[in-house]
Amino acid sequence: MQRDAPTDLAELTLAELETLVADRGLPRFRATQLLHWIWKRGATDFAAMSNLPRDLRASLATDLRIGTPAVVRRDRSEDGTEKLVLRLADDRQIECVYIPDTPAQTFCVSTQVGCAMGCAFCLTGKMGLVRNLTAGEIAAQVRVLAVATGLLDSPFNVVLMGMGEPLHNYDATMKALRLLNEPGGLALPPKRVTLSTVGLVPMIERLADEPLMPNLAISLHATTEEQRASIVPPSRKYGLHAVIEACRRFPLARRSRITFEYVMLSGVNDTSADARRLARLLAGVKAKVNLIPLNAAAGIPFERPPDRTVDTFARILAEKGVTVSVRKSRGRDIRAACGQLIVEGGRKASAGQALAAVLG
Ligand code: SAH
Ligand code: SF4
Repeated sequence: MQRDAPTDLAELTLAELETLVADRGLPRFRATQLLHWIWKRGATDFAAMSNLPRDLRASLATDLRIGTPAVVRRDRSEDGTEKLVLRLADDRQIECVYIPDTPAQTFCVSTQVGCAMGCAFCLTGKMGLVRNLTAGEIAAQVRVLAVATGLLDSPFNVVLMGMGEPLHNYDATMKALRLLNEPGGLALPPKRVTLSTVGLVPMIERLADEPLMPNLAISLHATTEEQRASIVPPSRKYGLHAVIEACRRFPLARRSRITFEYVMLSGVNDTSADARRLARLLAGVKAKVNLIPLNAAAGIPFERPPDRTVDTFARILAEKGVTVSVRKSRGRDIRAACGQLIVEGGRKASAGQALAAVLG
């Protein structure tokens, strides 16, 4: 007879853990203890749970587990940025990044293995979508990073800007935010989370009704419909103007703003006319613009513009009253920078991954 796979406690909210302990005839406070051990203490097995009776720990271990991706590689950049390659239960690999002192401590996590969106300048996009991550796998990256960097008890921010399109894996992403927000666990407030999306309009509308609402960042990257459609394929369905209209309707807390990310591609979207169009497009939107000079890579058919082009672009936006920042590229020497997350090799590399490894 085949036994059921062990239930993974790291996929469960407090309410779900309470149901599980009740089903086993245990008192409710055991659920709070389990949540605390997993999320606040970083326990990866039951043996560590010293305030649980020994026989209880042994019986839990027979049919339950605490799914925790293994760190298979850890690279540290000259600037302190660290990239972790994690192996999941099915041997797939993902990457997540610790970006220190920006001045906040920031964890950049993945929501999918690969990505289906195919943006023309993004290495993850070249992999195609291998699979969605589960809620536990998304949240576990934060747990693993917090343990690895010793920040379990310190404040940190989370950006959903690793591999994958979070709104293309909507339910798991939202559940991951609930897991991270559990008061007895990491208690991560949603205002410390930023969700970056390529602009899937119906999903942005759904996000607008969420009780735990993260900050929103939109990967805009262009100032005309044609230009955006040519570099961001989903824009053929949800065009530039539709995305901006969805942003206008998006409910924002007082003083908060939507970030518009704009990857600068030399000779493609970096002219003064683009800067002026961008300022016009964002008129009346509570916006800030984050310019990201392209992180060039083999296989990416674009170039990074010279610094002075980026400066001119930023100055035009600022003169028109748009708040603008230029993203400093972190961790480039270990390929942890934006759009450079890609898993090479791995035992079960898909065709896309294999291609990516060759291109990289
Ligand atoms: N899929 C989501 C989140 C992950 S990508 C999104 O697209 O928003 C995170 C950010 O990295 C996006 O703004 C994306 O456009 C940017 N990016 C992708 N490839 C890049 C590259 N080669 N250089 C610089 N930024 C890149
Ligand atoms: Fe996917 Fe974002 Fe890369 Fe586009 S930029 S391919 S949406 S990860």
